[in-house]
Amino acid sequence: MKDYRTYSYWLETCGDDLTPRPPLAGSTEVDVAILGAGFTGLWTAYYLQQRDPSLKIALVEAEIAGYGASGRNGGWCYPGFPVTLGRLRERFGPEAARAVSKAMHESVDEVGRVDAAEGIGCGFLMSGALRLARGRHELPAITGAYETAQALGLGEHYRLLSPEEVAERVRVTDVEAGLFSPHGAVIHPGKLVRGLARAVERRGATIYERTNVEDYVPGPKPRFLTPYGDVAAKTLVLAGEAYLSRLARLRRALVPMYSLIVLTEPIPEERWAEIGWAGRELVASSRYSVDYLQRTADGRILFGGRGAPYQRGSRITDAQDRHEPTHAMLRSMVEAWFPSLKGIGFSHAWGGPLGMPRDWMPTTFFHADRGIAGAYGYTGSGVSTANLSGRVLADLITATPSALTALPSVNHRSPRWEPEPLRWAGIRFVQEGFARLDREATRTGVAPSGSSLVERLGRH
Ligand SMILES: Cc1cc2nc3c(=O)[nH]c(=O)nc-3n(C[C@H](O)[C@H](O)[C@H](O)COP(=O)(O)OP(=O)(O)OC[C@H]3O[C@@H](n4cnc5c(N)ncnc54)[C@H](O)[C@@H]3O)c2cc1C
Repeated sequence: MKDYRTYSYWLETCGDDLTPRPPLAGSTEVDVAILGAGFTGLWTAYYLQQRDPSLKIALVEAEIAGYGASGRNGGWCYPGFPVTLGRLRERFGPEAARAVSKAMHESVDEVGRVDAAEGIGCGFLMSGALRLARGRHELPAITGAYETAQALGLGEHYRLLSPEEVAERVRVTDVEAGLFSPHGAVIHPGKLVRGLARAVERRGATIYERTNVEDYVPGPKPRFLTPYGDVAAKTLVLAGEAYLSRLARLRRALVPMYSLIVLTEPIPEERWAEIGWAGRELVASSRYSVDYLQRTADGRILFGGRGAPYQRGSRITDAQDRHEPTHAMLRSMVEAWFPSLKGIGFSHAWGGPLGMPRDWMPTTFFHADRGIAGAYGYTGSGVSTANLSGRVLADLITATPSALTALPSVNHRSPRWEPEPLRWAGIRFVQEGFARLDREATRTGVAPSGSSLVERLGRH
């Protein structure tokens, strides 16, 4: 049996002993069967129970609740949507961009509300999110995002900060500017996902753990097929994110991309005095290869980033959680950002797969006639987006009229990924290209042009 505590610091410290719940024992029938007990599956169950407490709900989970990205992420509960406001405006118009922004802000609040109402205690702290321009080359990204928000009438959510104003919050090297949004919460995602699992069980849902769904059959008699029997339901919900690419029917719907994290030992108070960061803001820079940081409640720095290479055939393996070159890069970035931490010890390193659709646009869909629903494709922005998905799916499945079901992600169909080996070649080209753009821009101090092939392919 796997030692689930080793998959992340969050699972290790969530307070549960992580003994798996019993697997499915023979075929069964429910109203709604949900594949996956991460944030998407659990929020969907939660809001379905709010809409109709009589619904019989089963969650079918291959490992344990919170095993996937939900139990491993950076703990950023923030209103960022996988597709930027600028891109949303281009593709779906300004009204749709504003509606997504509003829904995402509400989702952050909603996570905090349920955390308190259910007594989950995930340490939800509305600390705000601070995006930095580290180096002059990152300035256009910050000012561009701010101008887009202003043009959409959303400027009041953001504030441009000078380097001095950033330093009043957190002292990081090479800062040229910051973009601060007060709306973003730092959380302990392990406590949230495990607490949500208990909350839906209290209301009568059953979670079958260590039960892999091998296939699903939509149509007049929808059902999940597992080694221990079928789970038949009026509605099936696909909430398995990156791992869905393992199912034959969804092999090209999304690809697993790895995000990796390192965590320092607790940092002594005198060293914190040099860094500041008393407000525990969510912090990131604006580089292409993505980074994200949080100051944990127990005084450590979590530093996450992308860069681990995509594996041909969308492979998902435990070995990819610990890609040493990426972890070494992240450790060196901690010292580059915070030189006063030179020599600090690192206690944890982990990672996990996130699900990426071909056009970066997540989907939340329901086909009543075939009894199938699902939500996936958040790339790296799924903590609060999954809450939104749960509410949208509950509205769709119970036919509750709501403004949320008009969002552009609802019933969105992304193009399929290319077959292999073209897919691998294309993704590696963009991954390597992003790393090269970051290196070049750091060296020259000049922002990438925005028009190179890599940038056009990676626009979102
Ligand atoms: C390292 C990392 C850092 C991240 N940081 C952030 C962040 O700070 N903020 C943010 O907003 N987003 C972040 N993300 C993304 C975010 O964590 C995810 O988008 C979100 O948790 C997805 O939730 P989910 O429930 O859809 O998927 P998951 O949490 O991946 O859950 C899917 C579940 O389905 C189960 N499953 C899959 N297939 C099957 C099957 N066939 N049968 C049965 N069960 C199955 C899996 O075992 C898993 O438990 C990060 C992701 C990673 C990997």
